Amino acid sequence: MSSATTLTFLSLGNPTGLKFIVEHGGLRAIFDFGREHAPGRALFSLGLVPRPGRELADELAVGIAPKLSGVYDAWDGRTAVFLSHLHLDHSGLVHHLHPDVPLYYPAAMEPLRAAVEGSGYLPWRRPPGTQVADGATVGGGELSVQFLAVDHDLPGASGFLVRTPELALAFTGDHRWHGSHPELTAAFAQAARGADVLVQEGVTLGAPPPGATPLSEHQVWAGFERLLLERTSGLVIVNAYPMNRERVAAFAAACERHGRRFLMEAQAAQIAGYPGVLTDPGGVAADPAGHCLQLGFGGLPSLIDLQPPPGSVYVHSDGAPMGPFDPAWTVMEAWLARFGLEFVGLGSTGHSWPEDIVRMVQAVRPGLVVPVHSRSPEALEVPGVPRLLAEPQRPYAAAELKALARQLFARAAGPTPSAHGGDPAPSGRT
Ligand SMILES: [Zn+2]
Repeated sequence: MSSATTLTFLSLGNPTGLKFIVEHGGLRAIFDFGREHAPGRALFSLGLVPRPGRELADELAVGIAPKLSGVYDAWDGRTAVFLSHLHLDHSGLVHHLHPDVPLYYPAAMEPLRAAVEGSGYLPWRRPPGTQVADGATVGGGELSVQFLAVDHDLPGASGFLVRTPELALAFTGDHRWHGSHPELTAAFAQAARGADVLVQEGVTLGAPPPGATPLSEHQVWAGFERLLLERTSGLVIVNAYPMNRERVAAFAAACERHGRRFLMEAQAAQIAGYPGVLTDPGGVAADPAGHCLQLGFGGLPSLIDLQPPPGSVYVHSDGAPMGPFDPAWTVMEAWLARFGLEFVGLGSTGHSWPEDIVRMVQAVRPGLVVPVHSRSPEALEVPGVPRLLAEPQRPYAAAELKALARQLFARAAGPTPSAHGGDPAPSGRT
């Protein structure tokens, strides 16, 4: 316990599973509490799950859940957990929290959270926690946390401004500038301006989509509309991410405009908050050109009943499997080949494009930027803004962070000033 402010990254999230702690005066705030999503690489993936009744012990033993006192067996009276949004890599461990641990999340996330829990997709803690309105602040003088909405690819995503007497820290959360609400992201940048430290999400750093121009959310909606205009026969199958409720609603409306009824599998419909549930595959098979159908990876065997006719298409729109890095991708391809389905990729990432990450850093103009949630944090270079490649599990004192920022800034005669926080732990890279 320390009276000074410290910042500790439990996991830098390379690229998923980011978790960090801000501590001051005996108070401790944990930011995000999710699990790494790495199908085919994570110990519990490809159908391997923690053993029933031993979930937490198993996840602690293999390093999926962070070893922390005061949050699992009993509450230590000083720790609170803050969630930026509902994605599993930010919230997937919440059900392990002791009922007494204060848990705060964006109020705008609640309808989706309740649906996801109710659908059985994601277990949650009881009681579910406290909803915090956009712009509201939790805590007081020693340690306060302000919720500031950002745009991401699901409802209710937030960044944070964390203040102690020694430090102003801004955390972007997962966000983008190319979605339907860029004004939220811009307002976050404005509010965070001049923070001592900016913890910056960098999922897309160093990994631009090969040879493709990335699409904005609105371009995806427009692209889908064009596709429907051209496809007057056959079934249109969609694999969208059900938590992206706006895209589901936009796709459904587009299908409606083109004389097709949009239906979803039951769980996906519940998550998406969409009323059209697939109950009768035979009815869809009898009238393929009158339908659009959301089909996730687990639903691929339904193709046996649907028997999509020639001219049918499979629109991959950010549903799982999300890319060839997932071993399920080739299985999906095998199903499409077996049923003669044309593949169309039509997606838009929930994460800022690399140039927009730079734009965020320039807009906030922090004393120090810490790129996280990235395979290539070293790819973030913003002239005039010192960068720290943080070391996991190492407490950084506020005074140290500020001294580092001054030092690096003074040294910055040439290109990007940078500090390497020790071994970049290549074994931890994903
Ligand atoms: Zn994330």
